Amino acid sequence: MTALRPLAETPPGELGAAWRAAVRALDPAAQDALLAQADAVRGAGDDGSWRALTTYRTLVDRARDGPQALARAVWMVDEDPDRDGVTRRFAEVARRAGGDAAAFAALLLAECDLHDGRADVAQRGLASVLAHAHGRGTRLEVMAWTSLAASYAFERRETEALLAARRADRLVDRATDVTAVDRAHVAAAVARAWFSLGDVDRLLAHLPRVRASADAMPPTDARRARFHAYLLVARAAVDAGRLEVARAHLALAEAEHRDEDGRHGHLPAAVTATRLRLARAEGDVATMATQLDATPPPRAADATRHLAFVEMTVALHALRGERAEAERRAAELLGALGDRKGVGPAQRLLAAEALGRLVGDRDLDPAIGTEAFRVAADAAFERLHELERATDGLVSLAQPTDDDRAALAEHRARALARHRAFAAQLRTRIEAAAAAGTLPQSVAASTGGLTTVCAWCLRVRDRGGRWWPVGHLLAPSDALPVTHGVCPDCRPLIVR
Ligand SMILES: [Zn+2]
Repeated sequence: MTALRPLAETPPGELGAAWRAAVRALDPAAQDALLAQADAVRGAGDDGSWRALTTYRTLVDRARDGPQALARAVWMVDEDPDRDGVTRRFAEVARRAGGDAAAFAALLLAECDLHDGRADVAQRGLASVLAHAHGRGTRLEVMAWTSLAASYAFERRETEALLAARRADRLVDRATDVTAVDRAHVAAAVARAWFSLGDVDRLLAHLPRVRASADAMPPTDARRARFHAYLLVARAAVDAGRLEVARAHLALAEAEHRDEDGRHGHLPAAVTATRLRLARAEGDVATMATQLDATPPPRAADATRHLAFVEMTVALHALRGERAEAERRAAELLGALGDRKGVGPAQRLLAAEALGRLVGDRDLDPAIGTEAFRVAADAAFERLHELERATDGLVSLAQPTDDDRAALAEHRARALARHRAFAAQLRTRIEAAAAAGTLPQSVAASTGGLTTVCAWCLRVRDRGGRWWPVGHLLAPSDALPVTHGVCPDCRPLIVR
């Protein structure tokens, strides 16, 4: 084979599959020589770093022992944007370095675990990193809190994600060793947390911070960061019924995206989904139909998007007066809502509430409305439970400020009010069904494995079958998910 060009003269664009195959075919001495070239160029700007990164990743099998291998692994821990099996091998080598390098390696391993969908393993790893970094206010601590926020967000534990992200946000101002990218990650984590709590006002108040952190990055990264933040605002505002805010921020997001030359193929899907939600909120059937046609049906495994897609399909059929088809898709939606894998209470609540209202507005089968409001009440209750768990569990570690506490208290009050409203909707529907002689079987039956909440008195049944006032019983370990029904005391109210 022909000899490779010196690494420093190889254009980054040529470091593709053919180059990697050629490198792997070199004899060990030539590979060592190439690794030495990579060591020499890794400080030489972005191109040099890219050359070194690609070389190290290609020859990952040689990243084992010796001081040079260790130095490369430690450098990789900071430079490698991937979170795959190759990253993991470098991190495992770097962990032997001890001290902060080992802690950074542990952080990277946790991010690899999260990337593989193992949030619980990631959280254990991050706890060990925080044990090392806690209270030092360094970049390592900032990054650990940011990763922890991401791992909670992955599990849809929004309040814990918020506390962790806010902790990172307060530290990032004091840490002297953070990069512009780190700041942007923290700002994005806080924005996602406010978004997932549906807190439009705090999300809007946070936007200047996202913009400031974006301004410190290269233009492409800055546009991407602003695009995501504007889209979060638009989505949260649609869900909150603040359509002016939604329209304005969707336009801002689209403007940022147009400048991107279509380089990020996954972004338009998020825009389409938001346009669709906005059109639904505006009752704009024509736009809904156009946007829905432009959306490829998400895989059922992509639970979040699948749920949103089916909900939108139900709405479109209902708004067009296609009752039978709307009811058929609504049954599918209720099935998807019952399967809780990958879908947190916040999303189930939104989808179920929208379905419940739709049934009332468009005169669909009332049994669907009853089930929808039961799911909404269940989700609201789980959300309340989640808030209490977050407040109890993470407070000592995350050191929330008065502002964080106020936010949590506000969200708790809101979750409580919504739970009561959904339970009231459920009661009305069950009473109507009982009066018509079609009381759903599930109301009376106690369901095994689920925590039952009485929709009338809001007491909760423990595993021993006793009924307790809300707040007295629910220790974090108590069995969720919940279902709503009627307790023996309230039963005479509906079954005479
Ligand atoms: Zn009761």
